[in-house]
Amino acid sequence: MDLSGKRGLIVGIANEHSIAAGCATLFQAAGAQLAVTYLNDKAEPYVRAVAETLHSPIVLPCDVSVPGQLEAVFARIAQDWGRLDFLLHSIAFAPAGDLRANLIDCSAEGFALAMDVSSHSFLRMARLALPLMSNGGSLMTMTFYGADRAVEHYNVMGPVKAALEASVRYLAVDLAPRRVHVHAISAGAVKTRAASGINHFDALLDEVRSHTPAQHLVTIEEIGRIATVLASDAGMTLTGSVVYADAGFHIVA
Ligand code: NAD
Repeated sequence: MDLSGKRGLIVGIANEHSIAAGCATLFQAAGAQLAVTYLNDKAEPYVRAVAETLHSPIVLPCDVSVPGQLEAVFARIAQDWGRLDFLLHSIAFAPAGDLRANLIDCSAEGFALAMDVSSHSFLRMARLALPLMSNGGSLMTMTFYGADRAVEHYNVMGPVKAALEASVRYLAVDLAPRRVHVHAISAGAVKTRAASGINHFDALLDEVRSHTPAQHLVTIEEIGRIATVLASDAGMTLTGSVVYADAGFHIVA
């Protein structure tokens, strides 16, 4: 898979275990130059350590709920690169109390915040990326099977990911005339920082393993390989789809 000459933005690296870190490693190995962001001062050293291995020339703070930060990232990319070929949105958040509560008990504020950070931020990124994608491009976001089916303990993230996947379809239609392709990657369960916020995540991992053909849990590098195809010219026949990087988990009844 060849990404040489392509430039991408990665939002969602918390540390080397992040799905975004696995994807970034594969993008870089395929020849892409990458801009990466970190959430805040606490996250910065962990993200910088990953950014160093990626030789990223642009490393910037980006909390999508802080007005102006996302805009500043795109302004810097416009200034340094003048264009962008792909971006990976690999972020999710819900307040712990709301994430751990049954959906019926989720607060309006928690629901709105989870939706804003995890779903609407993808639309904001798409809008900011568009002027930089005059030669077409690829917008990717990370989702989970809990959007399709009610997965125990996934709670508010279920409707949030369903909204994200629907947004991918609408964006794909809106942006097709600009040759900008939009993809949701439905990743298998991986033990990450965000995943540890889900109640009984270890039990979910066991469940996923036992329902996956060959009992295989996917790695972040395997997810990265799929993302690399979607970022490359080979991915240009696809748009608006949910691509399952889950070793077949979703096909088993
Ligand atoms: P992670 O904790 O490594 O990454 C989550 C990222 O979200 C972190 O980098 C964090 O900084 C970022 N984030 C949270 N709030 C933010 C904000 N306000 N502004 C900017 N960034 C913010 O965990 P991960 O599992 O790699 O999660 C990445 C994506 O993959 C998420 O969308 C998650 O829902 C999705 N996903 C995870 C799994 C899994 O099993 N781990 C499975 C399928 C999909």
